[in-house]
Amino acid sequence: MSKVRTRYAPSPTGKMHVGNLRSALYEFLIAKHAGGEFMLRIEDTDQERFVEGATEIIYRTLDQAGLKHDEGPDRDGGYGPYVQSERMKSGIYMKYAKELVERGEAYYCFCDKERLESLKTEIVEGKEIMMYDKHCLSLSKEEIEANLAAGTPFVIRQNIPKEGTTTFHDELYGDITVENAELDDMILIKSDGYPTYNFANVVDDHTMNITHVVRGNEYLSSSPKYQRLYDAFGWESPVYIHLPLITDENHKKLSKRSGHASFEDLIEQGFLTEAVVNYIALLGWSPDENREIFTLEELIRDFDYHRISKSPAVFDIVKLKWMNGEYLKAMDFDKFFEMAEPYIRKCLTKEYDLKKIAAMVKTRIEIFPDIADHIDFFEEVPEYDCAMYAHKKMKTTPESSLEVLKELIPIFENQEDYSNDALYETLCNYVADKGCKNGYAMWPVRTAVSGKQMTPGGATELMEVLGKEESLSRLRTAVDKLTADLANKE
Ligand code: GLU
Repeated sequence: MSKVRTRYAPSPTGKMHVGNLRSALYEFLIAKHAGGEFMLRIEDTDQERFVEGATEIIYRTLDQAGLKHDEGPDRDGGYGPYVQSERMKSGIYMKYAKELVERGEAYYCFCDKERLESLKTEIVEGKEIMMYDKHCLSLSKEEIEANLAAGTPFVIRQNIPKEGTTTFHDELYGDITVENAELDDMILIKSDGYPTYNFANVVDDHTMNITHVVRGNEYLSSSPKYQRLYDAFGWESPVYIHLPLITDENHKKLSKRSGHASFEDLIEQGFLTEAVVNYIALLGWSPDENREIFTLEELIRDFDYHRISKSPAVFDIVKLKWMNGEYLKAMDFDKFFEMAEPYIRKCLTKEYDLKKIAAMVKTRIEIFPDIADHIDFFEEVPEYDCAMYAHKKMKTTPESSLEVLKELIPIFENQEDYSNDALYETLCNYVADKGCKNGYAMWPVRTAVSGKQMTPGGATELMEVLGKEESLSRLRTAVDKLTADLANKE
């Protein structure tokens, strides 16, 4: 068995979509699982689609996601150059195209734009499709040479017979057979001398010893033409794995509109790289044990491409959020604090102990932007309804709460130690003296200092962060609010 070599072969046309990252990840995992090599090749022969800066996004994303390539434009492994526009300079694509011409598997075509436009077109899925009519296949050797000598612009086309069928194999879809009559004589070398993506891709995969190709199933329909090229050269084709579509919750193709179609969008929204990579690994692949959290190392160990599914994978943002939350819970606190701090700071102008706040929210959030909802009350108590003081289980009412708060204020005024432990002890002593349950006092205090039904910590934890002055001020305001509210009701 030859060494497993995979490649991620992006065209630098923009952001890195979730589907692209999945192809890259699976290529990486297949190589690493087998102790093989993962390569990066930039497919930039389509100069019209080239987007400035897109190559940098590819490097950055792979690097961030931990998909380190063994070979690529920046790391020579003996198969370079790794950028197609540079590979082209050696004349490699033209050389192979001419070889096909000699074998009768390709031919020069000198048809001009007008002629091509006059060819019958059919509409497939809203797009005009042209089937070339093999007009130039019948040119004599002399005519071809005369045209070349005169400098007439030309392309080189693949010569696909009109009869018979072509069969290729995909690991997920099995053998697929198509009628040759359905296949167009696709262009291999364009009139600007550049190879088409389809041709360069085949030549490069072969000359770079690629053993496994993973890509989106939008390439499935061109695969028979690829197969014919491999056969024409007498080359063995790599193992093909065409991945199912990734859809949104409405089973529509994941698009920009969904807002989370690219890796960059997700990171901007506050998702962790590890969680995104973990989640994307499961978009179409399932391990043989029932678990979902995998580090990259664990994915390498367990990834088996035979377990990739053919059914469309649904990108479920709710599930990704859950997964992200699991990563946050498991994260080392210092690292968590470093990442959470800017989100906490954004919500606060007052000087609080941010580490304490971070510790409170760590197990409660799914993504960093959730922090705002959990801690907004530290800045200011929101408007709330006094009905919140009534809690059935705690056996509290607005009246009982008012009484408790009035009694507690002087006690807290006399207290110097505002640590959670000391405050908690004070409250416990108070309820013991009063002969009531803890909640009977904790609930009104927590409501008074936060104005919220759900908080990231208990009454005394919040008071510790707020400090003496702010806590007392909030308790007093609550007493005023309850007094006014009850007076209104009378
Ligand atoms: N350059 C192609 C793309 O970016 C790669 C397809 C393939 O992996 O063969 O979609």
